[in-house]
Amino acid sequence: MHRSGATMAWNVFKFCTALRGLGSIMILLVLGVVGVTYYAVVLTNFGPALSAGGLDSLVAVLVLILFHSLLVMLLWSYFSVVFTDPGSVPPNWRPTIDEERGEADPLVGTEFSNVQADPNQRIRYCRKCNQLKPPRCHHCSVCGRCVLKMDHHCVWVVNCVGALNYKYFLLFLFYTFLETTLVTASLLPHFIAFFSDGEIPGTPGSLATTFLAFVLNLAFALSVLGFLIMHISLVAANTTTIEAYEKKTTPKWRYDLGRRKNFEQVFGMDKKYWFIPSYSDEDIRKMPALQGLDYPSKPDFDSQ
Ligand SMILES: [Zn+2]
Ligand SMILES: [Zn+2]
Repeated sequence: MHRSGATMAWNVFKFCTALRGLGSIMILLVLGVVGVTYYAVVLTNFGPALSAGGLDSLVAVLVLILFHSLLVMLLWSYFSVVFTDPGSVPPNWRPTIDEERGEADPLVGTEFSNVQADPNQRIRYCRKCNQLKPPRCHHCSVCGRCVLKMDHHCVWVVNCVGALNYKYFLLFLFYTFLETTLVTASLLPHFIAFFSDGEIPGTPGSLATTFLAFVLNLAFALSVLGFLIMHISLVAANTTTIEAYEKKTTPKWRYDLGRRKNFEQVFGMDKKYWFIPSYSDEDIRKMPALQGLDYPSKPDFDSQ
């Protein structure tokens, strides 16, 4: 029993180390795709087109302004996901006891593993971290720790996506979709030119980069669109990716407060901050959900 447990832990450890190693490569891969795209769009095609005159120059100015603005937002969001702690459990965290219902501390005199105070919201315990789990918290085997409102471990950002960086992750998806769509659309005429009979201007190197940038950006635009649609429906229902699987067994979902409030629990209430990877101080103070430990549930949930 003990030996097989140890073997399994070792295998999981090896797998997780591999994932962590992969992580740093993923950052380089993202920057590589950005570099190839930048070379193709700015240096090869639309930079030189600035001096072409007429409509071509106007189009080039528009494409370059949009491209650079979206790139700044994309990289800002990306590094915000990479460098923001998704949320860890404070040491000695204890659930707040519902005083109105007169419940005694459910932990007194019971073993942690048997704690089941309320069948709707039982207090969970993480055996690997040896600590209680706040609501919506999950243990990530790659990070090796519990993560608040864990959504998934994302290899593209070398980090877990959880309570404190989920908004930044969504903005990263959003800006990546806009940027890759812009690049695909603006390089499309150049891509079509490859298949025409006429002579195409440019060195073999710059033509190859344009071809590669078009294919990569089209592939990213399509796959990110799928993710974006999935996460829009998750935010609308106030569920994480993990909870979406768990929810199949529980038809009633206690955290679904309606689309507007569900959206605000991720993006905050201050409209000025909706499109940037940051929160206003007031929102962080006023909204416990943004700190990842307490989540309001439906007012009628417990009485049902
Ligand atoms: Zn844990
Ligand atoms: Zn993780």
